[in-house]
Amino acid sequence: MSGLLIVIAGPSGAGKGTIFHSLLERMPNTVASISATTRAPRGKEVDGVEYFFKTKEQFEEMIARDELLEYANVFGNYYGTPKKFVMDGINSGKNIILEIDVVGAEQIKRKFPECVGIFIMPPSFEVLEKRLRGRATDSEESIVRRLSEAKRELSTYKMFDYIVFNDNLSEAIAQTETIIKAERNKISRNESKIEQLLNE
Ligand code: ADP
Ligand code: 5GP
Repeated sequence: MSGLLIVIAGPSGAGKGTIFHSLLERMPNTVASISATTRAPRGKEVDGVEYFFKTKEQFEEMIARDELLEYANVFGNYYGTPKKFVMDGINSGKNIILEIDVVGAEQIKRKFPECVGIFIMPPSFEVLEKRLRGRATDSEESIVRRLSEAKRELSTYKMFDYIVFNDNLSEAIAQTETIIKAERNKISRNESKIEQLLNE
């Protein structure tokens, strides 16, 4: 059985990173795709761990060589998903999580309609602002920009399959895990196994 392609999106500060890191610890067959980006490393970020950090020229070469499954310009920088890692992972039965923006999510949904799209949203925009400020990793200008983008991102909600309101963190993590587990049991994802049993 192929693995699931799970797309997690939502406004910056919604808790996507926090939730998906916890999922990776709890679900051994689930791995994260590492994106390429032209943005500069933040804090203790390491090349090849949080992102593959690229120059604009290197990133544009990746586009030209068709090495990206999707890419988008987010807050003035390129971000994209390397294709090979994702395809190899899914084909070997692993669940792959992409934590990407809504423009990238739309590209993935178009190419892989069977992917599982999960939108993470804080209980309110006020809480979102508090979390972005509490995270203390972004400049004031960047926070204002991320907040003004948040409503536009939420307005794309119809392309997603699920929404998780990240109010209580452990509840939000449990809900996301439940969604992924239930998806694996969908009839449409188990038809060949069922047919095999019927033919015994
Ligand atoms: P994103 O990856 O969506 O940009 P983060 O995972 O970095 O968001 O979360 C933004 C900030 O909010 C972080 O400081 C994180 O620790 C905090 N946070 C995440 N979820 C919750 C929650 N349910 N309650 C309180 N704080 C949270
Ligand atoms: P940050 O700079 O905070 O790490 O990420 C900024 C935004 O870029 C987030 O919304 C994140 O989801 C998005 N992002 C990260 N990687 C990718 C990717 O590979 N493709 C796309 N389209 N967006 C990404």
